[in-house]
Amino acid sequence: MSDGGKVDTRKDSQKVRPACGGSFTENLSPLQLIELDSCTGCGECLKACPVQEVTGRPAISPPEKIRMFRQFIKATAGLKARFLGKNEADRKLLEEFTRAVFECTTCGACGQQCTVGIFTQRLWPYLRKEMIERGMVDYKLLTDMPEAIRKSGNPYNSPTEDRYKPWFPESVEVLDKAEIAYYAGCSGAYQAQPMVRGDALVLGTIGAPFTMLSEKDEVCCGFPLFISGQHDMLEEITKRLVESYAAKGVKTLICSCPCCVNVMTRHWPSFYGRELPFRVLHMTQYVSAALKSGKIAVKRQLRERLIYHDPCYLSRGVGIIEEPRDVLRSIPGVELLEFERHGLNSRCCGAGGAVRKVFHENAIAMGRLAIDEAVEKKADRLVLSCPACYGKVNEAMQDHKNRIRIVDIMELFSEFVERGNG
Ligand code: SF4
Ligand code: SF4
Repeated sequence: MSDGGKVDTRKDSQKVRPACGGSFTENLSPLQLIELDSCTGCGECLKACPVQEVTGRPAISPPEKIRMFRQFIKATAGLKARFLGKNEADRKLLEEFTRAVFECTTCGACGQQCTVGIFTQRLWPYLRKEMIERGMVDYKLLTDMPEAIRKSGNPYNSPTEDRYKPWFPESVEVLDKAEIAYYAGCSGAYQAQPMVRGDALVLGTIGAPFTMLSEKDEVCCGFPLFISGQHDMLEEITKRLVESYAAKGVKTLICSCPCCVNVMTRHWPSFYGRELPFRVLHMTQYVSAALKSGKIAVKRQLRERLIYHDPCYLSRGVGIIEEPRDVLRSIPGVELLEFERHGLNSRCCGAGGAVRKVFHENAIAMGRLAIDEAVEKKADRLVLSCPACYGKVNEAMQDHKNRIRIVDIMELFSEFVERGNG
């Protein structure tokens, strides 16, 4: 047990730190320390926060989380702490902070609005890491993930042998080695199968030879561990995956999930220790380029009003905004609608931050905001391009008064795409 009678959820391999004492700054870069210092409390970010919108809880707000964290630094490293030797953070405040930083979906909308430019989508995971190492986190759904990934290769602990079999189309050929590889990802493979099946069908139509790792070798990309502050396995996972693709001669790795693309492009190089030997693309980037080069084309019409939701880790995370829209606009007859908040300002659907199952009610309420707006705008279908969004928004629809058809972008596109002349 750690102090305060709370169960110590830290695993043996995790760094063991005192819950309330010691340095609160060692996980943070100099830039992040400056960011913490520079919040003016202006509150501009509050208007963008979806968790504020559905809970109204002040503790979750970005300036409040930053204020609490500054308190911990002051209590353990301020002048009083140094001269009087009383250098412990307040346990109750730590508990309140832990809940707030985990209830946040890490969507980064606050950072997009921030008047001083704090990069919150990166800051929050590191503040979560601090609380994990201090043994303050007892959300079993999160703390069980490292063990599940070790055992089954995925955070859901689903059977390794079922990773591809239930959804991969027999008509699509996968080579042992190729310059292009497809990474399905755990959420797609186990929880959003129409989406990854759509990807595979579209890759088959494009026709460029591609490879995949075996079910056993395609392990989790590490995003849920990174985002929940559990970084111990990240170097091992990254090296294992990068070297497996390098051994197949891969030069382009195509992913289905925005979170995979995000962790691979933003964080894998630092866990790998150098530049990756291949480029990483989201499926919509690859398809948009294939449309432009004429490798594929769409002739059949779809007379529908579609509304597209930008996943936080795709739009704000890695700046992929136009490519999904290129794909949808390539279908003749489609009228593309926009949410009030779209592109860089997109509102989280509730599935972000690996906490959609922990803070289920918040996530459902956020998902319903997207459904309601899509219905209000008289869209025929709500189009998604992320497996986490796909699962959560479908769940949010259950027992909801408003109804709309939900479809993944490649699930839809696979029904229309044809081989082109390019
Ligand atoms: S990251 Fe998103 S959920 Fe978290 S505080 Fe910022 S706006 Fe709110
Ligand atoms: S907008 Fe930026 S500076 Fe203002 S309260 Fe929010 S985080 Fe702090």
